[in-house]
Amino acid sequence: MRRNLLVFAEHRDGKPLRVGLEILSKARELADERDFDLCALILTDRVDDAEALSRYGADLICVGTDESFGHYGHGFIDTTLDVVRELGPYAFIIGATALGSMLAPEVAAHLRTGLAAHVIDYRWDEDLIQVVPSFGGRVAAEIVTRTTPRMSTVKPGTFSMIERRGRGELKSVKVRKPEQDRIRFEGFERIEPKGRPIEDAGVVVVGGGGVESEKDWGMLKELAELLNGALGCTRPVADRSWSDEEHMVGTSGKIVKPAAYIGIGVSGSAHHTCGMKDSGIVIAINRDRNAPIFDTADLRIVADYRDVLPALLTKLRDLKKQA
Ligand SMILES: Cc1cc2nc3c(=O)[nH]c(=O)nc-3n(C[C@H](O)[C@H](O)[C@H](O)COP(=O)(O)OP(=O)(O)OC[C@H]3O[C@@H](n4cnc5c(N)ncnc54)[C@H](O)[C@@H]3O)c2cc1C
Repeated sequence: MRRNLLVFAEHRDGKPLRVGLEILSKARELADERDFDLCALILTDRVDDAEALSRYGADLICVGTDESFGHYGHGFIDTTLDVVRELGPYAFIIGATALGSMLAPEVAAHLRTGLAAHVIDYRWDEDLIQVVPSFGGRVAAEIVTRTTPRMSTVKPGTFSMIERRGRGELKSVKVRKPEQDRIRFEGFERIEPKGRPIEDAGVVVVGGGGVESEKDWGMLKELAELLNGALGCTRPVADRSWSDEEHMVGTSGKIVKPAAYIGIGVSGSAHHTCGMKDSGIVIAINRDRNAPIFDTADLRIVADYRDVLPALLTKLRDLKKQA
């Protein structure tokens, strides 16, 4: 087997999740720079078109299908370990979905290798550099793993999907099913999010720790509605339960790329900005002129949001009435 990179391509309802294709696209770039092969691993209960992964650069697509892969269990771990031991990848990258976030640490522990969580970029030096936000998000740290495979997880939306052909050879994987699985599957429960999803909104208003009360949070809600956008939050707001993690922007939340991002009372920690840095226009309202969010902003409003929002809302309401 040639030297290779391996990507876990999670599937749901027969289709690949976007995050797997995003990681494949980035990994293709990395593989080309070192003349490596790019391999993908699909473990699922159903796959409609495994070969489709070749459009995003996969040279070898390992496929294991079994009804037990409709949900997470130890079969995932054992089968993945077999594949990794056979292919001997230089690096193994997994999407940081609910399933991927369970699989990655278990596999890394079995292989006694390092795992970098929520990588926001990769590059080659002598070794593979894995970039992650660190120290409360104030710095971007570079992690080099000295054990093989170098394992890491990547959040959905971190990389763009780029079509580039790989050889697309298919290989079927022997599925392992433990006789007694210590993980018992109870069923799926769909949790309805607390508002409009932020991922696909053209305008995302984000409220941060500087928003002082739930009453003020209502002003941000109205602003998002008047702009036909979605309302997102940072970690402190999710912790106060005015919003939820489904609406949190950043490394442990969602990655958004709206045409316009409006940050209100947001400091701009790297944990947050790496989730919005590819937005179109960035507008920030912060009373601290040295707040790091202003480094990313196109329009900087140094002010108390309570002095700005009431007038802005009045203007927008008037415009809406006239429309
Ligand atoms: C492993 C890890 C993962 C994390 N993941 C995430 C993540 O995904 N997303 C995320 O957001 N955070 C995440 N965090 C937390 C992150 O590091 C920061 O603590 C967080 O982003 C800070 O949120 P904030 O800027 O809204 O609040 P604060 O740091 O409290 O900043 C509030 C800002 O509001 C300004 N302000 C205060 N009052 C006013 C006012 N009246 N008018 C105008 N401005 C005002 C202040 O000047 C300040 O800049 C993570 C942390 C760790 C350790």
